[in-house]
Amino acid sequence: MAFDKASVRDAEVDGKRVLVRVDFNVPLDGQEVTDDTRIRAALPTIEYLTGAGAKVILCSHLGRPKGQVVPELSLAPAARRLSELTGKAVVMASDVGGEDSRAKADRLEPGGILLLENTRYEAGETDNDPELASRLAGLADIYVDDAFGAAHRAHASTAGVAGHLPAYAGLLLEKEVENLTSVAADPERPLVVVLGGSKVSDKVGVIDRFLEIADQILIGGAMCFPFFKAQGHTIGNSLCQDEDIPLAEDALRKAAAGRCELVLPTDLTLGREFSADTETEALAGTDVPDGWMGLDIGPQSASDYASRISTAGTVLWNGPMGAFELDPFAGGTRTVAEAVAAAPGFTVVGGGDSVAALVKFELTGDVDWVSTGGGASLELLEGKTLPGVAALNDR
Ligand code: ADP
Ligand code: MG
Repeated sequence: MAFDKASVRDAEVDGKRVLVRVDFNVPLDGQEVTDDTRIRAALPTIEYLTGAGAKVILCSHLGRPKGQVVPELSLAPAARRLSELTGKAVVMASDVGGEDSRAKADRLEPGGILLLENTRYEAGETDNDPELASRLAGLADIYVDDAFGAAHRAHASTAGVAGHLPAYAGLLLEKEVENLTSVAADPERPLVVVLGGSKVSDKVGVIDRFLEIADQILIGGAMCFPFFKAQGHTIGNSLCQDEDIPLAEDALRKAAAGRCELVLPTDLTLGREFSADTETEALAGTDVPDGWMGLDIGPQSASDYASRISTAGTVLWNGPMGAFELDPFAGGTRTVAEAVAAAPGFTVVGGGDSVAALVKFELTGDVDWVSTGGGASLELLEGKTLPGVAALNDR
């Protein structure tokens, strides 16, 4: 499916004031940005616009200040980092489309960059308040949405403001949607989907959809325990939400009746508790004894998953295979991450923790597409329309 929204490249931006919604929701340690991945991801659009002579007005949310001015959640550290990355001055406004924003926007030269304060300092942001949306729109001639990570929310700075101005997709948003939709639309086969993480209910929409599309779905992480429970295995103290068991039963039924192979681990690494210095045990099966919890897929499963990944035409990976934050339980996730990185097929990774695992193992550069959006990427993979994308002008 081709992306059918108007691109920033189609817009006449020279000398124009362009409001760009970016995703600068970055981790901070005091005044320092500890991971600037999201800022770097927005650079192509920002540099395209400054290079084309636009007056660039950026806005983003950061954390959850819930409509209050929380100084610890100021975007000022992101402005400094952006200035270092672009080698240009980045002016910081002290409000979200108020008097200071207007004054500074008026003084912007072509090629200049202004960053507004955290949009969630305003309660109207998450309520999609029309007054805030029109106040933001009043700053600019054109709107560009490059905040893929926020595109699944109809907020004032995403869907709201897009209703007031000619609205275009930024380069990152465009690539995110193209890459994530291509996995389901016309994949090279076999299409192998690797799903892990903590909860089936978070990802049941993706499981359901890909049971119809994929050739194999490989399950890892705590997600396998509702499946094991549904099959009558013992799970000890492993993480398992009761409400996930019927969802797993349903997926097993659909898989048995369909063409997609649903693969569960055949061995596990156990711990006494969720801790890096707990006692560990290799289990050559999937019946977890009392007093133990499954915290990683076992080495046999990890190497089976790796070999399936290495022969796939397309790989989609979302969710770690175990509690990879704890070294004794990082093995399954590392093996899968390395297999994805080395795979000759087209590889896409989404999900905050899966991407964190890629970063930890220094493999991000070897994956074809690393999504910047957690919730947004899942909703897109479920086949949903994202409100932030729907609000943009058609091509
Ligand atoms: P993503 O952000 O990539 O979508 P999730 O948020 O769904 O992934 O899941 C990530 C979390 O799942 C991690 O914090 C990891 O510790 C946890 N996890 C994975 N496997 C297990 C397990 N077997 N037991 C407990 N927690 C697990
Ligand atoms: Mg997560």
